[in-house]
Amino acid sequence: MEINLISDTITKPSVEMLQYMFNAKVGDDVYKQDPTVIELEAGIATMFGMEAGLFFPSGTMANQTAIKLHTQPGEQLIADKYAHVFHYEGGGASFNSGVSCCLLDGHRGMITAEQVAGAINDPEFYHSPLTSLVCVENTTNKGGGACYELEELRKIKQVCDANNLKFHLDGARIWNALVAKRQDPKEFGKIFDTISVCFSKGLGAPIGSMLLGSKADIKRALRIRKMLGGGMRQVGYLAAAAIFALENNLERLAEDHRRAKEIAAVLLTKHWVASVEPVETNILIFSLQPNFSDELLIEKLKQKNISISSMGNGKLRIVTHLDYRQVMHTYVLETLQKF
Ligand SMILES: *Cc1c(COP(=O)(O)O)cnc(C)c1O
Repeated sequence: MEINLISDTITKPSVEMLQYMFNAKVGDDVYKQDPTVIELEAGIATMFGMEAGLFFPSGTMANQTAIKLHTQPGEQLIADKYAHVFHYEGGGASFNSGVSCCLLDGHRGMITAEQVAGAINDPEFYHSPLTSLVCVENTTNKGGGACYELEELRKIKQVCDANNLKFHLDGARIWNALVAKRQDPKEFGKIFDTISVCFSKGLGAPIGSMLLGSKADIKRALRIRKMLGGGMRQVGYLAAAAIFALENNLERLAEDHRRAKEIAAVLLTKHWVASVEPVETNILIFSLQPNFSDELLIEKLKQKNISISSMGNGKLRIVTHLDYRQVMHTYVLETLQKF
């Protein structure tokens, strides 16, 4: 039994999901003739109360398209210092859109309206880049799966409106937030200009993301996606995986959250653990006492067939997911208890 707690992206499609994909009706999506993609785009847009959606091969491409939509070269976006759009998209913001990032020192990957207001460059002061976009992440990835309060997002939106800024949500793991905080996706739809969501994380689809926005923005996004090489043909097979995932794997995210909390509870009892960050969803970040080595713990767990990852700076990360089942969980808890 190999137990991989490195990421929720490692899940493989189940037989049922593959069967559902196999039966999808497809067409050429570049000609907008794939009925399954059209069904998914309309369904997710309705779910979030937004006008339109566009299917993407990756969350990175969906975020990069959003940045391109909302900015001009030379401008600046505001994000948390841990933001995926800054750290993990290959420098795409500067490459694709020619924008710089103003990074804020947030809390667990989350920023406040007050911080945003303080980071906007005076548009009259032409020496500085023009601030044009704010990007937030929910749940936060490097921030440890933390979830925003809707109230704070509404406040940031007010700051954006008052300063003529666009507001984008990197909602790769929005599903985890919706389940953990019992939030209504339509509330998010009301706040943001664009939202990206991933089907390939906790939901367990092999690939796929979506960008949501107004009809006008999504029409422009279609051209940007084409320029980035993301126009796809009979991609309904993949959209079908997302439809299956939403129908079958959304509510069960609560199990991932419960298991992450149970692992955290065991770690908290261990003398070799210095601290465990609060667990809200499926990501758990902890650090070891100074005289204990990360590499050694990772190696010892590996010998027990359990893989976890290091985030550097003495932080370790565990991510629970669809393919981490109860038998594995029981074994992990027992193994950690004995360490
Ligand atoms: C996974 C993820 C993405 C998308 O990454 P891809 O590797 O392109 O699928 C975007 N934002 C966050 C916060 C993520 O965790």
